Parts: sequence; C-alpha cells; structure tokens
Amino acid sequence: MSGATPKPEEAIRPEIRSLKGYQVPDASGMLKLDAMENPYRLPAELTSEIAARVAAAPLNRYPDASGRELKAQLTTTMGIPTGMQIVLGNGSDELIQMLALAVARPGAVMMGLEPSFVMFSMIAKFAGMQYVGVPLNADFTIDGEAMLAAIERHKPALIFIAYPNNPTGNLFDADIIARVIAAAPGLVVVDEAYHAFAGASFMPRLGEFPNLLVMRTLSKLGLAGLRLGLLVGHGAVLDHVDKVRLPYNVNVLTQMVASLVLRHGDVLQGQAQAIVSERASLLSRLRGMAGVKAHASEANFILFSVTGAGAVYNRLKQRAVLIKNLDGAHPLLAGCLRVTVGTPVENAQFLDALAASLAE
Ligand SMILES: *Cc1c(COP(=O)(O)O)cnc(C)c1O
Repeated sequence: MSGATPKPEEAIRPEIRSLKGYQVPDASGMLKLDAMENPYRLPAELTSEIAARVAAAPLNRYPDASGRELKAQLTTTMGIPTGMQIVLGNGSDELIQMLALAVARPGAVMMGLEPSFVMFSMIAKFAGMQYVGVPLNADFTIDGEAMLAAIERHKPALIFIAYPNNPTGNLFDADIIARVIAAAPGLVVVDEAYHAFAGASFMPRLGEFPNLLVMRTLSKLGLAGLRLGLLVGHGAVLDHVDKVRLPYNVNVLTQMVASLVLRHGDVLQGQAQAIVSERASLLSRLRGMAGVKAHASEANFILFSVTGAGAVYNRLKQRAVLIKNLDGAHPLLAGCLRVTVGTPVENAQFLDALAASLAE
C-alpha cells in the first residue's frame, strides 16, 4: 500500500470545489430589495380561488409531464408565434442547465457578455463547458465587433444575451443582436427575464432565425415562489433539448397556479405597469441625491454607484434594508449597488435609509 488515502471530497471536480456557491443572504426582518421580486401580492379573490384549487389538487398523482394546459395558456399570454415549441423549466435557471447539458461536449464553449447574469458562467462550469465572457463597453452597450470576433474565434455552441441585461438594466441594440444571431454557429438564447418591464422582445422574430431561442420566466413578473421558466423556439432544436429535461420537473401546484394566474393576466400586467412608473420616480429621486450616479433601466431594478459602496451597503443592512452589492463583481461595476423597485412606501424607506447611510 502506498500514498495517502484520498479524501472523499476529492471525488468532486476541482473546478466545482473552487467555486463559490450562489449566495442568498438571510433577509428575515429586512426590507427585501435584492432579488428583483415583485413587491405586490395577488388580489384576495384570486388567492381564494388558488386555495380552493390547491385543496382539490391530485397530489397523489405525478404532474402532466408535458404541461399541456399551461403551455396553451402561456402561448396566449406571452404572444408565442404559431408553430413554435415550448420547453418548461423549474425556473429559467433549470432551462439554462438543460441547454448546457444538451450541448456540452469536450471543448464546447458557452459565450456571454460581462457583466451579466452569473448563472450563465456557473452553469457552464457545472456542465463542464468552457465559458467565454465578452466585455460590454464602459456605458454597458454591447461591443458588436468584439462579439463577432469572439464568435469567429471560439465558435460557441451556446450564447446567452440577457435582454434587458442584469445587472446593468439596459436593452442592447437589436440590430447588433440580430447580427450576432446570424453569425453564431450554434444556439443563441435571448433571456427575457425582465420582459414585463421593457418595451422590446425577440419573441416575434423567432421565425427569422432557426438558431434563436427566447427564454422567459414568471419569477420577476410576480411568481418567483412558483419557479416556472419557459424556453421558446423551433421544434428542430427544442425537441432535443426536451430530452434532457427530467420527467415531471414542473410540479402539480406550479402548473395549476401558473395557469390560473395567467388566465387573469391583467393582474400581473397591472402590477408590472405600477413597477415601471415607480421605477421612473425612484430613478429621478436617486439622480437627485448628491454622490449617487444612477443608470437608466428597462427592468424592475436600478443600478447605481456611490463612493464607498461596500460601506454604504453594510450601513443599509444595519438599517434593515437589503439590496445587492456588486462592487468588485466586475471592473465595470466598481462602486455599484443594485436596488429592486419596490412599492412606493418601500422605495421611500429605501431612499431615507440611503440618505442616512451616505451621510454617516
Ligand atoms: C432572475 C434571472 C433569471 C432566473 O430566473 P428564474 O426563472 O427565477 O430561475 C434568468 N435570467 C436573468 C437575466 C435573471 O435576472
């Protein structure tokens, strides 16, 4: 016998062991403005109807594996073009994972923009893919030439473009995205997690590009607790992606409640409109504060920078206000904090706490 006994954890791949897991801070007792949740609850008539249906739900049975009723409802609500297929996910995070699993082969590249949603690069690692991040310009616009050059060089199997982008909040130039899709040798996913708060979408353009997929989620729209994401595109691609989906990934309650709430689609749309108008007043009030630089947003959050961002973040936390600290996450995010748009009362509370934290 020779050599030391291997430690059991060494069975885990080194790149997984060196990863820092996705951080979800404890928000109990705090004003929670860190995760782009919709601050509004559903109206009482709707929650009573949900309660009655949940009571009658066949929890002893597996869910409808194909999610037929829910997909029909989503097709209407989300304006899904005729002939396009849908794959449902347990949140859109799971769809990112399915796509990575389906394309990962030795040397396969996932490409994204930086800074953007961190789960793209994390899931590339989970699936054993190489991740290439193309930096945005200093004003957070997309660098089309750099992107096209990176595509030519790395031949990515999968490209993710968040539209609007998280955490910067802006929509990228649609003509540049169209050129990227046309030039890409593999799949391009336009991630429209914040579609409800933005005035633009690639959904109507699916027919133009056989390699385009549009991803949406109900999380930011107001149903984060249900976990439902959808991937829309051509059957020639999605029929294969659907094979890596685990059976019954979207549970009975999620299918039932999502279908019901979407049938009352005006409720969530009305809340999204309230958030959009509240976003404008939050932005102008942030811009009126000395020492704050706030960026325009097409999403339900605002990115802003302050000097001493880490300290300001901690002082806000001491005042029971939880936002997201992005200082140090990427060079373009130096000094940046991200706040989710809340109710008018919550936003006023946040602004008071921010003013006090800046003055401290
Ligand atoms: C929040 C977010 C998601 C994940 O949403 P879930 O459906 O809750 O998993 C995906 N993409 C972007 C850009 C996001 O900001």
